[in-house]
Amino acid sequence: MPDDSSIFLAGTLFDDKGGWTADSQFIEQTGSSYLLAHGLGNPVADAVTEFKVERHGEYHIYIRTRNWIAGWSDANSPGVFSVNIDGKALPHLFGNASPDWDWEYGGSLMLEHGRHLIKIHDLYGFDARFDSVLLTTSDKKPDGSTEGIRALRKKYLSSANEEKDAGHFGLVVAGAGCAGMCAALSAARDGVKVALIQDRDVLGGNNSSEVRVGLGGRLNIGKYPSLGYLLNEFGPSAKGNARPQEIYEDDKKMDIILKEKNITLFLGYKVSGAEVINGRIVSVSAERVDDYSRIRIGGDLFADCTGDGTLGVLAGADWAMGREAASVYGEPSAPEKSDGQTLGASLQWYCVEEDGPQEFPDIDWGLRISEGTAQKVRRGQWYWEVGMLDDQIAEAEMIRDYGMYVAYSNWSFVKNHASYREEYSKSRLAWVCHVLGKRESRRLLGPVVLTERDLREFRTYPDGCVSTSWYIDDHKPDPYNAAHFKDPWLSIGCLTPLDYYPIPFRCFFSRSVCNLFMAGRDISVSHLALGTTRVMRTCGMAGEVVGLAASVCKARGVLPRGVYRYCLADLQELMKKGAAKEGPLPDNQRFNEQKPLPTPRLLKPE
Ligand SMILES: Cc1cc2nc3c(=O)[nH]c(=O)nc-3n(C[C@H](O)[C@H](O)[C@H](O)COP(=O)(O)OP(=O)(O)OC[C@H]3O[C@@H](n4cnc5c(N)ncnc54)[C@H](O)[C@@H]3O)c2cc1C
Repeated sequence: MPDDSSIFLAGTLFDDKGGWTADSQFIEQTGSSYLLAHGLGNPVADAVTEFKVERHGEYHIYIRTRNWIAGWSDANSPGVFSVNIDGKALPHLFGNASPDWDWEYGGSLMLEHGRHLIKIHDLYGFDARFDSVLLTTSDKKPDGSTEGIRALRKKYLSSANEEKDAGHFGLVVAGAGCAGMCAALSAARDGVKVALIQDRDVLGGNNSSEVRVGLGGRLNIGKYPSLGYLLNEFGPSAKGNARPQEIYEDDKKMDIILKEKNITLFLGYKVSGAEVINGRIVSVSAERVDDYSRIRIGGDLFADCTGDGTLGVLAGADWAMGREAASVYGEPSAPEKSDGQTLGASLQWYCVEEDGPQEFPDIDWGLRISEGTAQKVRRGQWYWEVGMLDDQIAEAEMIRDYGMYVAYSNWSFVKNHASYREEYSKSRLAWVCHVLGKRESRRLLGPVVLTERDLREFRTYPDGCVSTSWYIDDHKPDPYNAAHFKDPWLSIGCLTPLDYYPIPFRCFFSRSVCNLFMAGRDISVSHLALGTTRVMRTCGMAGEVVGLAASVCKARGVLPRGVYRYCLADLQELMKKGAAKEGPLPDNQRFNEQKPLPTPRLLKPE
């Protein structure tokens, strides 16, 4: 362990991050948020910070980093950076060593008592990364494991030891994608005090300008056509995946949440712990993604809208991941054996046309792409899909990195080697998402698990509420791409048309943790049923119903299961009205309606 005169500098707390992006997606797996040089092949500006040395002496410098391409290439990593202290460059280049997060040794130097300046200098703009710098007089290499970095932070970073009580709420919502936002708004408008915890600086999840997925699915259909108007209040009014930032209208989303007096928003906090007593969540703890301080938030009811089912898993709720065998639910399209395959994740991208020639490095560390396997496109859309055969939780960072790796590899081929490269001479790679857009990971299980048979045979339940409107849209690796690459990176969608189907309310609460709701892609459905329920307008309406159910819990003193057992009529009454504001709302959510589905077996509005 480093001694007490060691100096620990967290990347996310640098005075000036320059062009480096703070990336907090993978704290769970790597132990830290980190700075990422996401320059799309252009070196980003230096990250700079001042630090103070108390005791003059010789200091060893370690930086926690990793070689992010090592899993796919033996070439030198493009994710390298140099370090400059007080104007003097260290001879060592960081980022080309361990494939796992670890402390990389950069040599030693004499430091006088007093203030000093360190600069982290990116070399190539290809996703170099580091989470912390350690200057120590000890010559023992620090522990680079996830536990090791957490222990070091506790020792040297005072904020990592801070924990505050942030109050008690009627409903605590974890995750502010479409589902979480709707859950929070609908409960708050019905008089419930809500805490909304979001681990990023923007709201909207996949529909934010970070991930740039357009809202899909229909609103205002089925048994409760008033459900969904909430989306007219904050949903973007233009369609599209992988479009310019402004299309996703982040400000509109932030505005509506900040204006709601019953919502307290905790932005930049990741839910990472749950206190459970007798099968009931009493509080959650959440960690700030930059300084690692913690808050504790108590609540009567909780809603997991994290997409990944994180809160449910922390609380010990039943969950599933991967494809169920046909024998599990009797689904006609299920495989013979259960496996870990999921819908993949995507990193979308696009290029723009400039007036003059645009270069992109001819990379030697990328995937071997040929004229036959290259994608001649200007935008990486939904079907640029990775990680279907990997673990979407444990391997999330690797999956994200592979998504960037294939985007750069294909673009480099198109720009430098393709026979049609002239057509791309003025094209500039303008955006490659660095936030992993997920479709599927863990699903939390409720008293009912919705299956493909329910949907195809139209087996309805008395508590059917939110209507589906999408096909069963199951993705598989693109066969041609999969035949040419060990890790496929393109997918195909297999669409089964469906009637609009009312999802049972019992898919929206946990069967094992009594005060836990869920809304979004982590509801109680089979892998195949998620094929229709996962679209964002449907996720939003699920959130709306959860919010309304929370208000029934409050009014009638029951838990989620009690709403189904004793107060379903109350919830149904509320669903007839929905949670949107009264009065004319912008009719802005029809731009990408699906064509009418075949054999409509629409339920009449109640
Ligand atoms: C490329 C792509 C294309 C798609 N195409 C479409 C489409 O055309 N139409 C459509 O409707 N859907 C589409 N989908 C699916 C859809 O985007 C998802 O199913 C949907 O976003 C799920 O909504 P959600 O609210 O459950 O999760 P998310 O949108 O993922 O939101 C969850 C939020 O919770 C936050 N969070 C996670 N963990 C924590 C934590 N521990 N603490 C605090 N906050 C946390 C996350 O940062 C995130 O902001 C697509 C998905 C992808 C990736």
